[in-house]
Formats: sequence, C-alpha cells, structure tokens
Amino acid sequence: MSDKIKPVEPEHIACDVCLKEIPEDAAKTFEGDEYLLHFCGLECLTKWKKAHPPKPNNK
Ligand SMILES: [Zn+2]
Repeated sequence: MSDKIKPVEPEHIACDVCLKEIPEDAAKTFEGDEYLLHFCGLECLTKWKKAHPPKPNNK
C-alpha cells in the first residue's frame, strides 16, 4: 500500500439563486422542511428569502 492521502477536493455545488458554482464548504445553506438550499453568499440567501417568505403556521 503506497497510496498517498490526497487532499480532498471540496464538492462544488451551484448556488440556488445565481447558479454560480461554489465549494460546498463555503456555501451558505438554508434548510427547509424537505429541502436544503445552497447559496454563494448572504446576498443570494437574502434574495431568496425575500422571494420566498416563510409560510404562516396555520395550526
Ligand atoms: Zn449566488
């Protein structure tokens, strides 16, 4: 066994707003009920939140 441990390349994912590719490590995430969204930065996260206000809980 002479395998050297390679540095792990971070997974790249696309921002859910501007579709820019970003390393998963650096992504801002927003967790919904059944989904997890990724954003390249707070700007896109804020943009998305404005476009998708949380639904009122009618319980
Ligand atoms: Zn973005």
